Amino acid sequence: MQIPAGRTASLIKCAFCLGHRIMTIRTRFAPSPTGYLHVGGARTALFSWLFARKHGGKFILRIEDTDLERSTKESVNAILEGMTWLGLDYDEGPFYQTHRFERYNEVIDELLAKGLAYRCDCSKERLEQLREEQKAKKLKPRYDGFCRTRDVDPDKPHVVRFRNPEEGSVVFRDLVRGTIRVNNAELDDLIIRRSDGSPTYNLTVVVDDADMEITHVIRGDDHINNTPRQINLLKALGLPVPEYAHLPMILGDDGARLSKRHGAVSVMQYLHDGFLPEALLNYLVRLGWSHGDQEIFSLDEMVELFDLAEVNKAPSTFNTEKLLWINQHYIKHDDPKRIARLLSPHMGDLGIDPAEGPDLVQVVEAQRERASTLVELARISAFYYRDFEEFDEKAAKKALKSAAIEPLKAVRQRLEKLDSWVREDIHAAIEATVKALETGFGKVAMPVRVAVTGGAPSPDLDLTMEMVGREACLRRIDKAIAWIEAKT
Ligand code: GLU
Repeated sequence: MQIPAGRTASLIKCAFCLGHRIMTIRTRFAPSPTGYLHVGGARTALFSWLFARKHGGKFILRIEDTDLERSTKESVNAILEGMTWLGLDYDEGPFYQTHRFERYNEVIDELLAKGLAYRCDCSKERLEQLREEQKAKKLKPRYDGFCRTRDVDPDKPHVVRFRNPEEGSVVFRDLVRGTIRVNNAELDDLIIRRSDGSPTYNLTVVVDDADMEITHVIRGDDHINNTPRQINLLKALGLPVPEYAHLPMILGDDGARLSKRHGAVSVMQYLHDGFLPEALLNYLVRLGWSHGDQEIFSLDEMVELFDLAEVNKAPSTFNTEKLLWINQHYIKHDDPKRIARLLSPHMGDLGIDPAEGPDLVQVVEAQRERASTLVELARISAFYYRDFEEFDEKAAKKALKSAAIEPLKAVRQRLEKLDSWVREDIHAAIEATVKALETGFGKVAMPVRVAVTGGAPSPDLDLTMEMVGREACLRRIDKAIAWIEAKT
């Protein structure tokens, strides 16, 4: 998809954009497709999306794929897949930077023609030597402007550098960090076109943000050093400067920047691990943003309450326990029919076809308080659908002792004879056994529970047994008796 050419052309020269950009909020998410959509990227996307949605604006997706060696189609797909799963829908795009090289070169040529950029053919050796000299003098390494006044042959190998202003400073009000001032003397004459003819990151971002009429650039604070450079480029081109909001970085629980080695950082990994998208979104929104001490936010509430002014400056720490807690909240409170639908593939992963057993919605209602993820919910619910291989060791040690043989046999006899397999009658059969054996309820119920469930967490025993079905219950009680007998 291309940006309409008319709008692009007029924007560069348009004197009225300022008025226009105040009217309509336009944000963007601009990932480089060099890996999956990770937690940090998803948080950036969410904040940009929320800000656009809150203000009735537009959210644009731009794929920054100019690094041809590291960008892959798989990664683009992974990013799109992650955004779809999270429900972060975009109004325009995806725009691919590799489709826009002509446009970037047009802008670079315009800068050259106006003397705002210049060709540079400094050799690697010269630049290396310069760096060494500057380092020796304890100066910040930067290009010395050697080619600023030279007339470099356009037909010989060269790069194009932006003529950064030498005087004054760049000041901008970051919506998270507050006012930031950088002296121009500290900024380099940035390379905007490499010797192979390809444009560089800061140039492409500036052209795109302007062409796409972005009003608010919301991105990770690893880009904060690029912002003054981008503002200088925008000003040189006579383009409006958007607002900027740099989001605090996310740390792992060891205090280091969140990375692969902290575990599941790919968004899609959370789907596979049994998280609900709304739980992950709710967790992500709290990474760097708060609204009083509220923890649970529906999507509508997020859109209503989100405010860049409430984004923290300080880094936030990823906390898996809290994510699990939020996920459990959504598993517990969501529509059980939806949970069952989302649970079904996880049952499939265990080789279980939910059609061959009790209604999965009923299982969700019975079990959902006991699991923090859908993977766990599937695991503790498998016994409703198939016999288990082994008893939980701890549960068996406690409940399946030789003293349990008599109650198990006695209750089995009564269960076998029941006219109907409903929880009330099952309960009565257990009570009658307790009475006949003159023992405590637990002495009968505990072994039966472990026999039927294998020791998995489960609700009321009579309900559990009704759902498991008579045939399976009797078979499992027999199996438990045989197991105890074999051990003693
Ligand atoms: N493509 C950059 C990245 O993935 C983001 C650039 C920007 O947001 O300005 O880090």
